[in-house]
Amino acid sequence: MNIVVLVKQVPDTWSERKLTDADHTLDRDSADAVLDEINERAVEEALLIKEAQGGEVTVITMGPDRATDAIRKALSMGADKAVHLSDPALHGSCAVQTAKVLATLVGTVEGAELVIAGNESTDGRAGAVPAMIAEILGWAQLTQVRKLEVDGTTVRAERETDTGIANLEASLPAVVSVNEKINEPRYPSFKGIMAAKKKPVSTLTIADAGIDASEVGLANATTTVLEAAPKPPRTAGQRVEDDGTGGTKVAEFLVGQKLI
Ligand SMILES: Cc1cc2nc3c(=O)[nH]c(=O)nc-3n(C[C@H](O)[C@H](O)[C@H](O)COP(=O)(O)OP(=O)(O)OC[C@H]3O[C@@H](n4cnc5c(N)ncnc54)[C@H](O)[C@@H]3O)c2cc1C
Repeated sequence: MNIVVLVKQVPDTWSERKLTDADHTLDRDSADAVLDEINERAVEEALLIKEAQGGEVTVITMGPDRATDAIRKALSMGADKAVHLSDPALHGSCAVQTAKVLATLVGTVEGAELVIAGNESTDGRAGAVPAMIAEILGWAQLTQVRKLEVDGTTVRAERETDTGIANLEASLPAVVSVNEKINEPRYPSFKGIMAAKKKPVSTLTIADAGIDASEVGLANATTTVLEAAPKPPRTAGQRVEDDGTGGTKVAEFLVGQKLI
């Protein structure tokens, strides 16, 4: 089975992350960049399916030049090849544009039947790109998946949301987005790291991919960040002395916050 994994390079969640003052897009130079952890799990799931059933795993990313590092990590885990779309025109692209672009790239991977993505990236957190890709491609979508099974041309999944677990079944081709419970991703081995250096990475511009500049970028985005302000520093909180009325005061505080 040929599987595509969508991977995104994001600012390390341990770093100080911020937006640029100029256009409120991500200040990529302000933080270390890493392969999003949820995408490590997506790669792991693809590798488990490949190891059980054969086939090929292709990773796709849309991101700046340094996203190559994220690709190399996925390849060193065991993915076979990669497509990297990198073009200044992509700067500031919204989730809708991103989904359209990624759907176009999925269409270039021969025999791709299954796309695995993270359920939500740790920077944008739209949690919408995989579902939009499924819609664009006309493929089945199984999102927020914590358990996945591929049996012939049938995909079965446990979908976990705040309201419960749903058991899903669909026919391939399908787009699956996974949550953090899906698996524990492997560490790349030394052999894997060395092998990754020789694996094919196809680096494309939007022109190479047949994407018009008017379809992408901040100027053409469907949504725009108009204003951004840093989070206010944490306050010390309110201290309640228990003089016999502590319980009432706590209850009054919670009512005031509309928490009870
Ligand atoms: C600082 C900042 C500023 C932003 N400013 C704007 C703005 O001004 N206007 C605007 O419209 N949008 C803006 N965005 C949203 C940004 O464009 C989205 O992050 C992007 O479109 C994809 O959404 P997401 O990562 O939240 O997707 P999600 O749906 O949360 O991602 C889920 C999964 O989809 C896959 N995926 C998502 N993106 C990629 C990718 N590039 N390559 C490969 N796989 C991918 C991954 O598997 C990922 O785990 C901003 C985001 C940030 C972080």
